Amino acid sequence: MNNISALGKKCCGCAACEQVCPKHCIQMKPDEEGFLYPVIDTESCVDCGVCVKRCPVLSLKPAGNTPKVFSVKSKDTEMLQKCTSGGVFPLLALQTIRSGGTVFGCAYDKSLRARHTAARTESELEAMFGSKYVQSDTRGVYTEVKDELQKGVPVLFSGTSCQVAGLVSFLGRDYDNLLTVDVLCHGVPSPLLFKRHMEYLGKKLGGEVKNFTFRCKDKGWGVFYRVETADIKKVEHSHFDPYFSAFVEGKTVRESCYSCVCATPDRHADITLADFWGIDDIDPKFFDKNGVSLVLVNTTKGDKAMNGLSSDIISKPQKFEDAVKKNSNLIKPTKRPACRDTIYQGMDGNYEEYVKTKLKIKSVLKKRIKMLVSFDTKRKIKQLIKHRG
Ligand SMILES: Cc1cc2nc3c(=O)[nH]c(=O)nc-3n(C[C@H](O)[C@H](O)[C@H](O)COP(=O)(O)OP(=O)(O)OC[C@H]3O[C@@H](n4cnc5c(N)ncnc54)[C@H](O)[C@@H]3O)c2cc1C
Ligand code: SF4
Ligand code: SF4
Ligand code: SF4
Repeated sequence: MNNISALGKKCCGCAACEQVCPKHCIQMKPDEEGFLYPVIDTESCVDCGVCVKRCPVLSLKPAGNTPKVFSVKSKDTEMLQKCTSGGVFPLLALQTIRSGGTVFGCAYDKSLRARHTAARTESELEAMFGSKYVQSDTRGVYTEVKDELQKGVPVLFSGTSCQVAGLVSFLGRDYDNLLTVDVLCHGVPSPLLFKRHMEYLGKKLGGEVKNFTFRCKDKGWGVFYRVETADIKKVEHSHFDPYFSAFVEGKTVRESCYSCVCATPDRHADITLADFWGIDDIDPKFFDKNGVSLVLVNTTKGDKAMNGLSSDIISKPQKFEDAVKKNSNLIKPTKRPACRDTIYQGMDGNYEEYVKTKLKIKSVLKKRIKMLVSFDTKRKIKQLIKHRG
């Protein structure tokens, strides 16, 4: 068979094949863990091989890009509070909207499902701000992007690296009016696990969860989440949340994330965005308690877009070796732990029991003491020790 059926669990779920199949015989359907995989109607498949040619995992060639590395922070302190790192995505997105363009990115729908959607106005953009650490649904979105590009509309597409690779592969050619931005990616947990977890948190808080911010800045740049019901707003260190903790430790991410074809410095996106973890040691003067972005400028298009932000940001060139120190996904995929074999088993039964067993957080007390000290305070203590030494 000359179709994508042999790819199995190496499939990253980008949905490029579903949107490119001329016979419309591929449908993305959830597996038992809740991740979307292509299912082929073999009766209608004509073995044309188009899906294989456009699959980023099977066929994408190296881009041949060498990134230029920067630490960047937005000067807009109000907007910095609404995003994850140094606020570069919101600025690039605003630049696109103000030039009459369309931005595609991940936002929650009314049921807190992460989906790729389009924004054509500044007010529609806000839902895309901030990282949602769950796989976003890209069904249908590449087709929408292509329609906009063919109309000559400036487009910014943002997503995980494999979603950008999926778009590049789906399009099969470059467009002058397309700018792509990927987030440096550690992996994505399943939408079903996230749904179950929101139900669990809602039950604990006594009301439906209306909003969940994975990386709020109520206590500064770091890993704090905010959960909101109609009556309650709670901010807590993310390592005390079983879902987040398991995600950070790479226990619940999609199988394809452990062999991620995008975990390389040769990026397919024009610009790559991440947290500049370790900037407090590498360049203490650049540290900002409201967040610092690691920005990789991979192409001349990316260069031009970043130059357009020059009056809105503070930016400084940095070394690639420094960027990698605390962001190893730039050069290699997340390591698969042995517990991944069974981590999803039981998720669909008694979830409270599942949390206690499968998502159990280790050494809570040790972690709690460590986390009581904020990122900013830790940095100040380190500096004091350095000066005294
Ligand atoms: C699943 C995931 C894993 C990540 N892993 C790392 C990591 O290991 N190390 C690191 O330094 N940074 C990681 N990031 C990137 C980081 O969290 C920030 O998203 C990035 O630095 C951009 O921040 P910002 O302040 O510029 O703007 P923000 O406003 O925070 O950027 C939001 C952007 O993220 C996109 N986005 C949000 N959620 C999703 C999603 N579920 N799927 C696809 N796109 C999404 C939006 O479309 C938008 O482009 C990850 C992001 C995601 C979504
Ligand atoms: S081989 Fe052709 S017809 Fe068959 S699933 Fe792939 S794209 Fe569709
Ligand atoms: S990686 Fe994307 S294109 Fe390839 S099989 Fe999976 S969903 Fe289809
Ligand atoms: S780790 Fe790789 S395969 Fe997994 S979601 Fe991120 S970019 Fe895609």
